Amino acid sequence: MYKSEEADKLFNEDVTLVDGCNLCKEVKYSIGEKTGYGAVICKVGNLKDGWFATLSPKTGGDLKLDFTIQLMPFSHLTHFSQISFYPKLAENYGVIFSNICRAMTVVMIQDQELKAISEDRGMAISIGTYGKCTTWKEKKEHLHIKIYPFRGNIGQPSTVDSSFGRKEVIKDSTGGEFVKMTPVQKVKIGKERFDKLVLLLIDILND
Ligand SMILES: [Zn+2]
Repeated sequence: MYKSEEADKLFNEDVTLVDGCNLCKEVKYSIGEKTGYGAVICKVGNLKDGWFATLSPKTGGDLKLDFTIQLMPFSHLTHFSQISFYPKLAENYGVIFSNICRAMTVVMIQDQELKAISEDRGMAISIGTYGKCTTWKEKKEHLHIKIYPFRGNIGQPSTVDSSFGRKEVIKDSTGGEFVKMTPVQKVKIGKERFDKLVLLLIDILND
């Protein structure tokens, strides 16, 4: 097998809770509790092999319909590659990720009569996920993955999508090139809807 000192260093990193980490701080909350940022909606596994998810208080999409769920490991992992060294953690990831997508789908269909197979974009159940990791010290942080309805402002193509590459390239006066994107502004979803969503998601996720 290929051996690399740097890879080993990364894979064997200490992943115990870190004092100054804002996500390690959230680990102690139980399902239904507000964390200071969002609210915990589900947990799978234990401190070593588990994951938890929170509902974010803000969305960049439609205030009445959209919401973002953040998925994180309990332990302070900073790189996706590290998951591979904890088999039960990898297994639990699949469990919690699929459960969150199921709950999100149910909520989306409850809010609007969306279709399992839709002729048009508006009636489709579109879900996106976004996560990244790095070993660049400045941005090396507790793993977190976002799951959200992929539509409207927050449903724009990503740089890895071929549809991003097909966007019209515009040149400015200095010769710089860019593509147009619809601006996204994160706004707080109302307390009433937030609380309702928390209860509903917990109900579906623990069914
Ligand atoms: Zn952490």
